Amino acid sequence: MADVIIVGAGFAGLSAARELTRLGRDVLVLEGRERVGGRSFTGEVGGVPVDLGATFVGPTQDAVLALAAEVGCDTVPTYGHGKNLIRWRGRVRSYRSTIPRLSILELVDVSRIQWRFERICRKVPVADPWTSPIAGELDGQSLEQWLRSMHAGASTRDLMAIMARVTWGCEPDAVSMLHAARYVKAAGGLGRMLDVKGGAQQDRFLAGTQQIARRMAEHLGERVILGAAVRRIERRAGTLTVVSERGEFTAGAVIVAVPPEHRDGIAFDPPLPGEYEELARHWPQGHLSKAYAAYERPFWRDGGCSGEALSDEGPVFITFDVSPRDTGPGVLLGFTDARTFDPLTPEKRRETALAGFAALFGDAASTPIDYLDYCWGAQEFAPGGPTAAVPPGSWTTYGRWLRAPVDGIFWAGTETSDVWTGFLDGAVRSGVRAAGEAHQELTRRS
Ligand SMILES: Cc1cc2nc3c(=O)[nH]c(=O)nc-3n(C[C@H](O)[C@H](O)[C@H](O)COP(=O)(O)OP(=O)(O)OC[C@H]3O[C@@H](n4cnc5c(N)ncnc54)[C@H](O)[C@@H]3O)c2cc1C
Repeated sequence: MADVIIVGAGFAGLSAARELTRLGRDVLVLEGRERVGGRSFTGEVGGVPVDLGATFVGPTQDAVLALAAEVGCDTVPTYGHGKNLIRWRGRVRSYRSTIPRLSILELVDVSRIQWRFERICRKVPVADPWTSPIAGELDGQSLEQWLRSMHAGASTRDLMAIMARVTWGCEPDAVSMLHAARYVKAAGGLGRMLDVKGGAQQDRFLAGTQQIARRMAEHLGERVILGAAVRRIERRAGTLTVVSERGEFTAGAVIVAVPPEHRDGIAFDPPLPGEYEELARHWPQGHLSKAYAAYERPFWRDGGCSGEALSDEGPVFITFDVSPRDTGPGVLLGFTDARTFDPLTPEKRRETALAGFAALFGDAASTPIDYLDYCWGAQEFAPGGPTAAVPPGSWTTYGRWLRAPVDGIFWAGTETSDVWTGFLDGAVRSGVRAAGEAHQELTRRS
C-alpha cells in the first residue's frame, strides 16, 4: 500500500518519486529491469565508465543539471579541441564548428533548409501541436517528404538523415514533420540541439549518467523494487491495484513513467478509452546503437583531431572523444546505424565498428585495448531508444491523450515533456509534473 505507485525507474519515474516524497507522500517504484536508470545505463571500457544510453547534457537543461548537482554528480566539458572530421562521398576532410565543410552551394542549401525549418517551428505550439493552423499539413508528411518538397539537395538530405538517426533512431521518412518541428522547438532550436559548445552535447558526466539514477534510488531505499515488471493495473472505486512480477500493490494514484510504446505491455482493467491504446500503438520507439573503443592513449589528439566526426557511410556515423584525460586511456564513442549494425554477430559488429573508426582516425583505431557496444533496439525488455520516432498522423489523431490523466492514472516519461522532450532533462521535468498532478488529485480527494 502506498499513496502513489510509479511504474518505471528511469529518470522520469525516479524524479516523480523524489518529488512526491518531498511533498510528504508515500511512494513505491516498480521497475521491470534488475537495475535503475532505464535509457541511462553506464558500462565500462578499458576501465573507464561509459554511457551506453544517455551521455550528454548542455545549457538550458536546468532540471537535470540541478538534479545532478543535488545528488553530487559533476560534469566535465566534452573534448572539442582541434579539427573535426567528415567522411563524405568517400573522402575524409576536416572542419571546425557544427556544420561540416561542404561546397559553397551545399552550405547555402543547408542554411536555407535550416532557416525554413526554424520558421515552421515558430508556428508549432509545443504543448498542443495539433492546434497549429498547419498541423494537418505538417503531420500529413514525413520529414523526408518535407525536405523533398523544399527541393533540399542531396547533401542536405544526407545531413538531415544523420540528424534523424541520432535524434530519433530512425530515417527521415519514418518521422512526422510535425513531430520533428515540435521536438526541435522543445530543445530550443536546431543549433541548441546539435551543437557541442552551447548545445546539448556540451558536457558529460565522468562517472556516467546512471550514477544520478542510482543516487536517487539510494535515497528512496526499499521504496524501489527491481524485477517488478507491471503487467496489469486495475481501477476499482478510487483504488488502483498494480499487478507486477513481484506481487500486487495498491495505491490512490499511479504514475506510468515508461515510453508510450511500452504502455501497451500493461493491461488496464477496465480498459482505458480506446484512444490511449491506439496512442501506444502509434508512438513507436526508434532504434539507436553505440560502440566504444578504448586505446592506450587518445592518439588522434596528437594529430590535432577533436575525435568528433561525421560519416555518410555506416555503420559508425557520428563519433566523439570521451577519454578521461590526455594521458589515457583514449576512448572513442561511435553512434551506429541500428538497421545494419544490430543484425550482425558480436564479432562482426566489433569488426565493422572498428573499421568505421579506422576510416576516420587511421589504422591505429583498428587495434583497441578494449571494445564494447550496445543495441537498444535489440533489448528484450523495454526495447528502443533514444526516444519515440513518431510517424505521420499520430500527433493530430492521438496527441491530446499523450499525458491526459485518466481515473487516477498519470503519465510521465521524457516523451510527455514540453521542454527537452526526448532528453534526460525532459524526463526529469515530466516526472516532477506528473508528481504534482498526482499530489493535487490526492489532496482534492481527501
Ligand atoms: C543510445 C541513446 C543515447 C542517448 N543520448 C542522450 C544524451 O546524450 N542526452 C540526453 O539527455 N538523453 C539521451 N538519450 C535519451 C535519454 O536516455 C532518455 O530521454 C531518458 O533516459 C528517458 O528517461 P525516462 O525515465 O523517460 O524513460 P526510460 O529511461 O525509458 O525509463 C522507463 C523505465 O520503465 C521501465 N519499464 C518499462 N515498462 C515497464 C513495465 N511494464 N513495468 C515496470 N517497468 C517498466 C524500463 O525498464 C525503464 O527503466 C539517449 C538515449 C539512448 C538510448
